[in-house]
Amino acid sequence: MVRIGILNLQGDISEHLEITERALEEMNLKVDVLKVKITEDVSKCDAIIISGGESTVIGKLMEDTGIGKIIVDKKIPVMGTCAGMVLLAKRTDYEQPLLGLVDMEVKRNAFGRQKVSFEDEIEIFGDKFQGVFIRAPHIEKVGENVDILSKYNEKIIAVKSGKYIATAFHPELTGDTLIHRYFIKEALDCAE
Ligand code: GLN
Repeated sequence: MVRIGILNLQGDISEHLEITERALEEMNLKVDVLKVKITEDVSKCDAIIISGGESTVIGKLMEDTGIGKIIVDKKIPVMGTCAGMVLLAKRTDYEQPLLGLVDMEVKRNAFGRQKVSFEDEIEIFGDKFQGVFIRAPHIEKVGENVDILSKYNEKIIAVKSGKYIATAFHPELTGDTLIHRYFIKEALDCAE
């Protein structure tokens, strides 16, 4: 049985759980979705979603629990949203534990104070999508093996690098399953 785990250390977990289940229903797929908190859970998963939240806290907990090491060693596909995106990066503008799985440099809280949280339409996969930005990071630089999926006001806000997908915004807070469907498809291709 294929399993998708939603990392449950800190952050907005339940929204990801709901939208992943809805995406699977729409795709007519039978895949387990579970919250994961300990290394044993994580190693049973074929893909992991790291939610928004506080990346310094999630990063520290991933380090302390050994979950980060398992994700890296087992090369589990990961989708990281907002704080999750920060954690996928190789470098940020702040000293903190990172998974370093995507060759990119991320600037935290990058959209400025006056725009701490906002919503706007973005474009991704040739479709319109509602971008929900909450103290969102953006990507300053990407390496050669990183594909840019979306930009907003010239800033990179979504990328794919092999089995890793990162978005600066929160796709779980819209009713739209587009990005979750994309990640599930990619993760299932890797699991085959
Ligand atoms: N700014 C937060 C961080 O870097 C991320 C905010 C979010 O996930 N909504 O951890």
